Amino acid sequence: MDFSLSDEERAIRDTARQFITREVMPLEQEALRRERAHRPGLERSELRELQLKAKEFGFWGLSTPEEYGGMELPAVTQSLIWTEVGRTFVQFKFGGDADNILYFANDEQKKEYLLPTIEGERISCFAITEPGAGSDAANIKLRARQDGDDWVLNGEKTFITNGNDADFVIVVAVTDPEKGVRGGGTTAFLVDRAMGWRSEFIQTMGEGGPASLIFDDVRVPARNILGEIGQGFELGMKWIGKGRYLIPSNAIGIAERALGMAVEYANTRETFGKPIATNQAIQWMIADSETELEAARWLILRAAWTVDQGADPRHSSSMAKLYGAGMVNRVVDRVMQIHGGMGYTRELPIERWYRQVRLMRIYEGTDEMQRLIISRDLLRGYTKIGGHLQ
Ligand SMILES: Cc1cc2nc3c(=O)[nH]c(=O)nc-3n(C[C@H](O)[C@H](O)[C@H](O)COP(=O)(O)OP(=O)(O)OC[C@H]3O[C@@H](n4cnc5c(N)ncnc54)[C@H](O)[C@@H]3O)c2cc1C
Repeated sequence: MDFSLSDEERAIRDTARQFITREVMPLEQEALRRERAHRPGLERSELRELQLKAKEFGFWGLSTPEEYGGMELPAVTQSLIWTEVGRTFVQFKFGGDADNILYFANDEQKKEYLLPTIEGERISCFAITEPGAGSDAANIKLRARQDGDDWVLNGEKTFITNGNDADFVIVVAVTDPEKGVRGGGTTAFLVDRAMGWRSEFIQTMGEGGPASLIFDDVRVPARNILGEIGQGFELGMKWIGKGRYLIPSNAIGIAERALGMAVEYANTRETFGKPIATNQAIQWMIADSETELEAARWLILRAAWTVDQGADPRHSSSMAKLYGAGMVNRVVDRVMQIHGGMGYTRELPIERWYRQVRLMRIYEGTDEMQRLIISRDLLRGYTKIGGHLQ
């Protein structure tokens, strides 16, 4: 069994690390200062500039097919890059990507939505969650009724990432209540903000904020249906599936950097005449963090590897998301503890991570939903204990 990276994976990972270290990390202090003044850490134009600079290093469209100018990287390599991006708390991501389900667009829609999104000229968001339907996504109610050649949308979506900035939304709506959400009763629509939906900012404990999207008789032409009528829920689940190994990949980067800070602090901070690192209480926090970090790393890489094998990644991705999200919360908490009062201040980014990583246990499937999936797979015999090694 070979746990090493290939030369290519290592080269791409190292170049990504270099870019993040040289180009993004130097912006951290300014980003913190701005966020504390309730401004975005990185303006949209600055993000774009950074993304174009990264493009010169070859980083453009990590998951985008080559025919659309992307790198079309294997999932394992994408996971490694997301880990590198996680090392910085500046809200940066490499450019040239679009939501995975936008590839279900027809040729016309590709020109209008997919290509400009890849180019960074348009911003999309994806909306399935509603005030009455989060974990229970099959309970969505936002209704789309056919009226001649158009569909008229009424209802509300909530907690939508990028919802404040997006110029269009991929929204999953109920088109046939009798069929039910899982029975083909929902459809995904591409809806421009100009068609009439509005967004309301939601304050959260994190930086930036999701939005509520309000649809009040929003008229959408039938040509804006994404995929097939009745395919909405299926597309929604495909969208969510991708984040389940990328979110914890990001968590690895956060945990590695935070733990590195704790190791350095433990070796230099002295109490009672000696470094705090000489205390077993501190050593154990470091040991537990490193062990859990490694365990998470291999769960995540295995989930990504499963994607690359073309096998069903749902079971391994749920374990990666569940464990990775929990791991980073425990590690950041210990790192704060090791820093004592300093950890709690806003002079260091630890409190920011503390707020940021809490979300990982909630969005794109809560801890409880991941547990539900993992146990259901075993209880119903969809997966064998020990997975692919059986
Ligand atoms: C910052 C942020 C960004 C988001 N971005 C998006 C986005 O871009 N697009 C989008 O569509 N959604 C988005 N979401 C929504 C997110 O996916 C939901 O918040 C999440 O799925 C949980 O749904 P809920 O908040 O309604 O909680 P609920 O479903 O009401 O759950 C409440 C609690 O009950 C638990 N629970 C529920 N059912 C069960 C059960 N059967 N067994 C055990 N426990 C259970 C849950 O795990 C949770 O702990 C975002 C959320 C946040 C906070």
